[in-house]
Amino acid sequence: MLQTMIVGSLPRPTWLVPAGQMYVQWKLDGDALSEGQDDAVLLALADQESAGLDIFTDGEQRRRHYIWGFVEGLEGVDFSRLVKIPTRGNRYGSMVDAARVVAPPRRKGAIVSDAVRFVKRHTNKPVKVTLPGPMTIVDTVADEYYRNRRTLAAELAKLLNDEAHELAEAGADIVQFDEPCFNIYLDEVEEWGVRTLEDAAKGLRAKKAVHICYGYGVDMVLKWKKSNTDWSHYWRSLPLLRTSAIDMISVECAASGVDPAVLGEAKGKELMVGVIDVGSEEVETPELVASRIRTALQYVDPDHLYPCTDCGMIPRSRTAARGKMKALADGAWIVRSELVSERQRGTLMGVRST
Ligand code: ZN
Repeated sequence: MLQTMIVGSLPRPTWLVPAGQMYVQWKLDGDALSEGQDDAVLLALADQESAGLDIFTDGEQRRRHYIWGFVEGLEGVDFSRLVKIPTRGNRYGSMVDAARVVAPPRRKGAIVSDAVRFVKRHTNKPVKVTLPGPMTIVDTVADEYYRNRRTLAAELAKLLNDEAHELAEAGADIVQFDEPCFNIYLDEVEEWGVRTLEDAAKGLRAKKAVHICYGYGVDMVLKWKKSNTDWSHYWRSLPLLRTSAIDMISVECAASGVDPAVLGEAKGKELMVGVIDVGSEEVETPELVASRIRTALQYVDPDHLYPCTDCGMIPRSRTAARGKMKALADGAWIVRSELVSERQRGTLMGVRST
């Protein structure tokens, strides 16, 4: 119970990527880049191991960006001329560089499975792999071909499903689809978002997970969070996901104004609950993490609760990320010990009363 993991990404070493870059320009190329990425993944695994986490990711060390990492592997998407588009319902008030969908997208071949095989060769822990969800990809590219979000999402779901099956075959224990847009376009989530996500995850032998959050811990997101007063989004999405084929749901709780009572809306599902703020360099104490886990336990069974970070940790320093992972593992350990003692006491009482 209370198995710990991070959402997905970790900061990249500065010998591989300039500090603070969200859309990465590698410092190396060719074989040196492959070797550098292998080394970065090994360090990410070592950091998770020494922190004491239970489920590992590769820290997304090989990706230029969590969405581009997949989209760059597609034909029909043109990265040679990017265009500026508003994204995320213009919530954060910024325009981003977007690749253009100019023809029906097709996978050029396997995109992430070699990376999964590499991780499986270097750890015995269960491994989680992330892919961007269909709705979130749609919201991050300029669709000059279908000009229809739902149609493009349906096409992407087929490609994601092929990819996800290969990841499961390569040994992924959990395949997680990142869908921050599930906290934005709630009507679309209801109309086609959940169904399209299920299509992307259809028939997987790995656990099917979705990560929903309020974005990376970067300035524009932190500014929005500070002034935001409406945290009702999960109250609509979790009941929809409760009746879906998705097994696990990641919910941002540590640094948002989300009422943890909403976790009860996903009863029966496994929940990755954010107990680590990814928007600050300040490392939580294990006691603070433990108190956040205890709060979540009011609404989720311990066997269904996975203490987690709120989102990816790319924007953080490596020191903070390491500290936060350790606090996560140590906080979970505190609560796990309490639960074990409680159960033992319960058993003893049972023995005495018979
Ligand atoms: Zn996130």
